[in-house]
Amino acid sequence: MTDSPTEQTSPTPEAARAAMAAQMPFVREALTELVAFRSVHSTPGLEKDNADAAAWVVNSFREVGIPVEPHVTSDGSTSVIGLREPAEGFPTILLYSHFDVQPASDVENWTASPWELTERDGRWYGRGAADCKGHVVMHLAVLRALNELATEFPDVSKVGVRVLVEGSEERGGYGLEDLLAEKPDLFAADVFLIADSGNDALGVPAVGTALRGTAPVTVTVETLDQPMHSGQYGGAAPDALLSLIHLLATLHDDNGLVAVDGLDSDARWEGRGPDAATFRHDAGILDGVDLLGEAQGLNP
Ligand SMILES: [Zn+2]
Repeated sequence: MTDSPTEQTSPTPEAARAAMAAQMPFVREALTELVAFRSVHSTPGLEKDNADAAAWVVNSFREVGIPVEPHVTSDGSTSVIGLREPAEGFPTILLYSHFDVQPASDVENWTASPWELTERDGRWYGRGAADCKGHVVMHLAVLRALNELATEFPDVSKVGVRVLVEGSEERGGYGLEDLLAEKPDLFAADVFLIADSGNDALGVPAVGTALRGTAPVTVTVETLDQPMHSGQYGGAAPDALLSLIHLLATLHDDNGLVAVDGLDSDARWEGRGPDAATFRHDAGILDGVDLLGEAQGLNP
């Protein structure tokens, strides 16, 4: 018999669910602590909050048995990285999340303090609670649950676990990219689980296998060497802003599909998606506005 995962040595879904449910008091307590750090990267005056948040992450993962270390990166942020080695023949999964958050400006317009986890209508609110401090805590809770299940099902602790918790995801830091180029071995894994997005719907677990991205590009359009009066020169003298608008309009076709050479729009999603009403509601699409693209199953 080979030493590999088998049906008999894994907990049932019910046992896994029960083990996770038992972690919810921990989840709330840990998320309360993590949300309280004002960990907005590269913000003068918040250096201590960022350092304290990183230290909290280090300690928390060590407590669940992952020997993580803080790595100060080229943008001054700290990435927390560590590996619990797999047993022979078992794969390694990398758990990614980040502990930095977007700034909480106009605090007076918040219903409650952004830095205090607050429950309203059965949901928990706080800056970064959903992006992505909740995900950091989810990983901790899963590892705690697995540690408990391991007494009965030793195989669950044989999977290698690599943890990566970044400190400058939100504000365009390049620290992690540089570290990846410099020390790729720190990131080696068989599977990457990037916990940094939401579910389809409340209470419906989901795994995303692809996500649309963005690419920042700076475009400068110049047509005249000086500003001119639109009444005297407008029309025949090309306007830079109008030219730019024409240029941007060529990036998509009339149906909203990407029309850039080298980027194809041929991929088709075969899996389950939200129904049209849910998608429109979640996206906040106004009545009378049609969806773009082909949006299979979403356009009636
Ligand atoms: Zn995020």
